[in-house]
Amino acid sequence: MRACDLSAIGILDTVFLGGPFVDSGYKVRRTNAFVVAVNCTQSGGTCFCASMNSGPAAAGGFDLSLTELIEGSRHEFLVTIGSDNGADLLRQVSSRMADDSHLTEASNLLKACSQRMGRELDTRGLAECLKKCYESNQWENVAGRCLACGNCTLTCPTCFCSTIEDTTDLGGDHADRFRKWDSCFNGDFSYIHGGAVRPTIRSRYRQWLVHKLGTWHEQFGTSGCVGCGRCITWCPVGIDIAQEAMNLRIRGDRSAAGGKEN
Ligand code: SF4
Ligand code: SF4
Repeated sequence: MRACDLSAIGILDTVFLGGPFVDSGYKVRRTNAFVVAVNCTQSGGTCFCASMNSGPAAAGGFDLSLTELIEGSRHEFLVTIGSDNGADLLRQVSSRMADDSHLTEASNLLKACSQRMGRELDTRGLAECLKKCYESNQWENVAGRCLACGNCTLTCPTCFCSTIEDTTDLGGDHADRFRKWDSCFNGDFSYIHGGAVRPTIRSRYRQWLVHKLGTWHEQFGTSGCVGCGRCITWCPVGIDIAQEAMNLRIRGDRSAAGGKEN
């Protein structure tokens, strides 16, 4: 598991286990999980985990973490033990103690990776800035491109929304209740008697971005984005959350300075 995904699981733990209502299915899977983290020494073009403090190295929450060390024909893994289970497993494979040169090599690789991120996101004051952008023209601009396909929500490791579906057989003797993944980009997602609360793509994209980067902080105490970049990679029309946040910040700054938004 990469560091960004591990951070995302930390966020999901807060959502599913940290409140008054514990998700029992999630709890079972989580309790039984053995986590091997793999630190990234090479970032992708859409990564910005360094901006979100969620990578490229896993900070915790793993049983074992690996950093790949390659030099010429040498190919080794520097392993960090994070739990008793991890130590037990490591005892079963051949290994030797790392020395200072291995630690320095790994640290340099991770530092270099941090500096080669494909994207950057300036998060300073971003949540406050987004609050002032509810009526920005930028939302129209995105809505003109967004297909509301929901790919971004399905690939996002912190998106957790689901819906409930009930079915009955024709005789009325048997009923099933399913929980299914859902997406805030679906028109029906915000349906309350009489209509959808967010009927336009503009309002759905705004809800998604502002929740991830803004109101998530108030709700769960962290950002809802770990900078994995998957929503950028999988958006069929190339919408880029980091770029959109920057566009909103520029427009917000401009209007705060008394200039006209455009
Ligand atoms: S919003 Fe995008 S970049 Fe952020 S965690 Fe979700 S998929 Fe990754
Ligand atoms: S993946 Fe792109 S087009 Fe699809 S809903 Fe997300 S932002 Fe819109």
